[in-house]
Amino acid sequence: MKLRRISVLVLITTFLAVSPFSAKAADYGIENCKLVSQNGFYGVNLGWLKNSSWLDGIGRKKFLVVGIDFSNARESGSVSQMVAGFELEKVNAFYSKASYGKMGLDFTIANAVVSLPISDVGVYDIQIAGEVAKQIPRSYKLADFDGLIGIVTSNSSYTARTALTALPTSVMGNETGHISNATIVAGISPKVPGWTPWMVIAHEIGHLLGLMDLWSREDALAWEGKTSAPFSLMNTGAGWTYAPDFFAWEKWRSGWIADSEVVCLELNNVSAQIDLVALANPIGKKLVVLPISTTKVIAIEFRQRSELDVGLQKSGVLVYEIDLTKGQFQVPIKLIVSQQAAREPYFKGLEDWRRNKEAPLGSYETVDAGFFRVSNLADLATTNLLITSESLAEVSQRIDALKMAKPTPRKMLSITCTKGKITKKVTAVNPKCPSGYKKVATR
Ligand SMILES: [Zn+2]
Repeated sequence: MKLRRISVLVLITTFLAVSPFSAKAADYGIENCKLVSQNGFYGVNLGWLKNSSWLDGIGRKKFLVVGIDFSNARESGSVSQMVAGFELEKVNAFYSKASYGKMGLDFTIANAVVSLPISDVGVYDIQIAGEVAKQIPRSYKLADFDGLIGIVTSNSSYTARTALTALPTSVMGNETGHISNATIVAGISPKVPGWTPWMVIAHEIGHLLGLMDLWSREDALAWEGKTSAPFSLMNTGAGWTYAPDFFAWEKWRSGWIADSEVVCLELNNVSAQIDLVALANPIGKKLVVLPISTTKVIAIEFRQRSELDVGLQKSGVLVYEIDLTKGQFQVPIKLIVSQQAAREPYFKGLEDWRRNKEAPLGSYETVDAGFFRVSNLADLATTNLLITSESLAEVSQRIDALKMAKPTPRKMLSITCTKGKITKKVTAVNPKCPSGYKKVATR
């Protein structure tokens, strides 16, 4: 991974008769940006505070992995065979990267299939988890584990892939202890082509950390580009081959981005110019947050192609709004896309990741975030973020001046020089032959 942090914070006050910008932001306490969720109804949310029964995102997390079958759908293979296709080592590698090495996963694969006495007809996830706790051999002490991954036999008609958070002892406990976070996933079968099994597990573990689904159940939204696609693993499937890292906000809430790497800005004192490092960079400022009401924030980060954001085609500043009153499937994160992306015509069937792939602000691009404007003043695939209450017209003047102030790079010329039989090529803005050589050609 290329770690890049280019500072272009040479301000333009020499060229413009306006007062210089500064990150007064630092004066605004970080706690002001930690908005509490208002949705209240779900086992997961994007705000502060966190539920203490969720999987916490720091340190080695021990998962018990079990194969599950039913009275009417028995499994003939071993647990290892049932689990192999889920490539759990990739799940661990993903979290290790996404958390900047702060979280790792250890898997203990139970050596025999847990055969449930119930049939799979009308069965649901909590019931399965409860039955697993009852039937599992007591040599597996539930108290030793932070979470459970249950893989259902692919012989079953059970096709759900869900996560269960903050389960009480009464649901998944026995005399050896209790596991409060579990994911129950249908086995790999030819019936479900086209999905990436390890990413499904990684997505469900995201829920165990308390993260929400970011997609909408209303199909209409899926093609109108109104979801957070394609910039988070929590947006199910959409853009998983594009940019499936988490949003910086999700990482902050998970404890992987430190408070010191977040700039909290006050809405009535918004003018700031800030360099952000790319999201994949383990060290440096990665997130700007502006509370715009008691329930909404605008968040800004810098996405660049990385080991996790493998398919990202446009690097730049990603601006989005988080609405902490929204529940699951109500689109709690909405992108505020670049003008380039906004020009993409809507049409039915346009996949969300295609709709939003140009969403980040590239060089000298600006968006109107309602209360203020956000520009990327960098001229490379990097960021120099300008957040301002100036009008779009004023920002555009500022950018024009900035572009004009840049010296045009001078063209390099090459000449060939000879001395007897020796030939030398000299390349420079104003090339000259060394003494004793004669110039023979100019290109
Ligand atoms: Zn989900």
